[in-house]
Amino acid sequence: MISYVEAIEHFEPVIGLEVHVELGTASKMFCGCATTFGAEPNSQVCPTCLGLPGSLPVMNGAAVESAIRIGLALGCDIAGWCRFARKNYFYPDMPKNFQTSQYDEPIAFEGATDVVLADGETVRIEIERAHMEEDTGKSLHVGGATGRIHGASHSLVDYNRAGIPLVEIVTKPVIGPDAQAPEVARAYVAHLRELLLALGVSDVRMEQGSLRCDANVSLRPRSGGPDQPLGTRTETKNVNSLRSVERAVRHEICRQAELLLAGGSVTLETRHWHEDTGVTTPGRSKEQAEDYRYFPEPDLVPVAPSPQWVDHLRQTLPEPPGERRARLAAQWGFSELEMRDTVGAGALELVESTVACGASPQSARKWWLAELSRRARAEGVELADLPVSPQQVAELQGLVDGGRVNDQLARQVLDGVLAGEGSPEQVVTDRGLEVVSDDGALTAAVDQAIADHPDVAAKVRDGKIAASGALIGAVMKQLRGQADAARVRELVLQRLT
Ligand SMILES: [Zn+2]
Repeated sequence: MISYVEAIEHFEPVIGLEVHVELGTASKMFCGCATTFGAEPNSQVCPTCLGLPGSLPVMNGAAVESAIRIGLALGCDIAGWCRFARKNYFYPDMPKNFQTSQYDEPIAFEGATDVVLADGETVRIEIERAHMEEDTGKSLHVGGATGRIHGASHSLVDYNRAGIPLVEIVTKPVIGPDAQAPEVARAYVAHLRELLLALGVSDVRMEQGSLRCDANVSLRPRSGGPDQPLGTRTETKNVNSLRSVERAVRHEICRQAELLLAGGSVTLETRHWHEDTGVTTPGRSKEQAEDYRYFPEPDLVPVAPSPQWVDHLRQTLPEPPGERRARLAAQWGFSELEMRDTVGAGALELVESTVACGASPQSARKWWLAELSRRARAEGVELADLPVSPQQVAELQGLVDGGRVNDQLARQVLDGVLAGEGSPEQVVTDRGLEVVSDDGALTAAVDQAIADHPDVAAKVRDGKIAASGALIGAVMKQLRGQADAARVRELVLQRLT
């Protein structure tokens, strides 16, 4: 495939992003079923979300409130009156054979949000609409090699997810960023995640599917000038990590460029992203709106939020992410780079909670961005999903600050906490990890080391202080690392100089 640089030389990419957010409401959009993730398949269903004859939907007020708050946070206008619509299509994971969604009357429309890139530059992303809808169930294709339907021997379906409230946020075509398009796509999704988390409307876990991104990509030849129409787009579905968003857009730009340069044309279609191979493959050809035979949902009343309610919700919006970051950076004394790294690592909330539990901002940052990030990468999980709480990290730092464990022992304490052995204090006790602070025991170990290494001791006595490192090492080994190296050095030098 051609390189990204070559693709960009010939074409200007235009992207559009559709993000589905699963709302964190206790019950579903149109029935009282629970929404707990990971429950036994088909245990959270009822006649309404199974689409059984005679069942009728009832709107979830908390979901409507969340949708309005999302719209407001994205600077959208809120519809004074709007309806749900039926989007008709057949798919086994959708028991009603239509999805209750919104079509030409979204709850929120015409907004914009400012996204900050890694280099500090701000890009304004215009929002076309944010509308309410319900999620589908989940199909599981069994017996094939890929988990896809092709090659499977049979399929199972779980309707627990059917009817969970979603908000779909759709951008207008994003034209300005040009070669930065993949990076902007990623930064936008990261920005949305931060915003939604601050709103408290969703747990926004991409790996569990509560935040899903579809990336539209099209290319325009540079030779055509700025006023030419947009090229034919493809829609890459359900890209489920921030890194994948960037990779998928980049790949799609290269793929389309190669196709166009060879004289071919881009097919309007959905595509699947393959995380392992880093390529997209064709899905179904893209339906047009008319294929869905949308019509207003006759079983639901229109949504007509009063201006007073909308105003009230506007006044209770959280601090916008950009302002919050600036405030925290000032409060914590973080440089711009430190702050950017913290946000980039998805550690802002974790550092904030750790500081709230008593750790200094710099030590909290160090734990989450160094040791814990390394472990999260090794485990292939998100930082927030490591089995250690900000409270425990603060406690661990407290042990270091109190001189009860050194850095090396602290990492062993962390091993124990991550292995589920309890609080840092508990692990220190159970594993016997506290540093030896009793000078009697330390002195005995120092004397032993001097006796074991008379030649080294002689060098130190002759003024070669640097040689004392070997003695300190011997003491630390003897005490299995459970000593404060600086104190050991003091004692060694006291003995020999
Ligand atoms: Zn139900």
